[in-house]
Amino acid sequence: MAAIKDQLLVPIAETLPSAGNKITVVGIGQVGMACAFSILTQNVSNDVCLIDVCADKLKGEMMDLQHGSNFLRNPKISAGTDYALSAGSRLCVVTAGVRQQEGETRLSLVQRNADILKHIIPKLVQHSPNTILLMVSNPVDVMTYVAWKLSGLPKNRVFGSGTNLDSSRFRFLMSQRLGVAPTSCHGWVIGEHGDSSVAVWSGVNIAGVRLRELNPQIGSPDDKEKWEDLHKDVVNSAYEIIKLKGYTSWAIGLSVASLASAIIRNTSNVYALSTCVKGEHGIEEDVFLSVPCVLNSNGITSIIKTILTQSEKEQLQKSAKTLAEVQSGIKF
Ligand code: NAD
Repeated sequence: MAAIKDQLLVPIAETLPSAGNKITVVGIGQVGMACAFSILTQNVSNDVCLIDVCADKLKGEMMDLQHGSNFLRNPKISAGTDYALSAGSRLCVVTAGVRQQEGETRLSLVQRNADILKHIIPKLVQHSPNTILLMVSNPVDVMTYVAWKLSGLPKNRVFGSGTNLDSSRFRFLMSQRLGVAPTSCHGWVIGEHGDSSVAVWSGVNIAGVRLRELNPQIGSPDDKEKWEDLHKDVVNSAYEIIKLKGYTSWAIGLSVASLASAIIRNTSNVYALSTCVKGEHGIEEDVFLSVPCVLNSNGITSIIKTILTQSEKEQLQKSAKTLAEVQSGIKF
């Protein structure tokens, strides 16, 4: 007797190549799986491929997600160690690598994660020459630079998740103080995703009302309301969460799904993303730092020219110098 599949379905056309919303996630640890889960549950893509070095874990995660297909929109979920599986990806999200241990800084991970990228980036580009690369592995700004160098892709197609997460943390903390929804709290954290990030206090506003006009000291050490603590909490939050649960995952997964959606749905939304900022804000080094960027199906199509105070500019330039120094020590 013929197989049920052959009895049930009448093939009327050959199988066409992917319609173009395939997303590959490389590295299926806590962060990679949170990204894949958010992408699937928010219906950003119905074609998700998982790649890692650990074959058993890949199979287990793939089966576990596939068993939820009934509650999704019948996605195709593939997984394996062979990069051929990733062929034709519109977006590749790279989360592979070691993460910080308790008390460890992001910058201490540089050479270990750069070495891992040497095995990943060329293979991704080989199988998906038209892909956009979204880097998440830390230190994300330096890893985005490394991926850009290794990939040979134009700058608009290689970017890092950067301070999109930090900005979200900042808006959440603002919302807690003011009793206003996070999506109605407008504030941007730019620069390094890490210890030297910059909160742009000059632009923080609710419904166009600049908080600096209500409190000219906001964000400075002289501010009696101590708004500066919000930014300190943003910088410390990864350390605190790692101390409490060992890793961070959900918020970065949601951040990545939101970025993936802008690419797949060609939205041109603005996000704080790690992009090459040479020539911006007086930065002379070939470094990647976060600034507000327009994101759509071509990757980053423009950088928003943020109006910064002299002190904010100087903080960015200082981060750029630190990152350039770190980058100069990387062995390619
Ligand atoms: P994890 O240890 O849980 O997972 C890492 C995964 O990478 C593992 O599954 C491992 O097998 C895989 N891997 C290692 N070498 C590989 C290779 N050569 N090819 C393919 N896969 C490989 O770590 P995690 O908690 O998921 O964190 C992953 C990275 O994301 C870390 O660098 C972490 O610091 C970073 N991170 C970034 C942000 C951000 O905002 N950018 C937020 C959280 C974590």
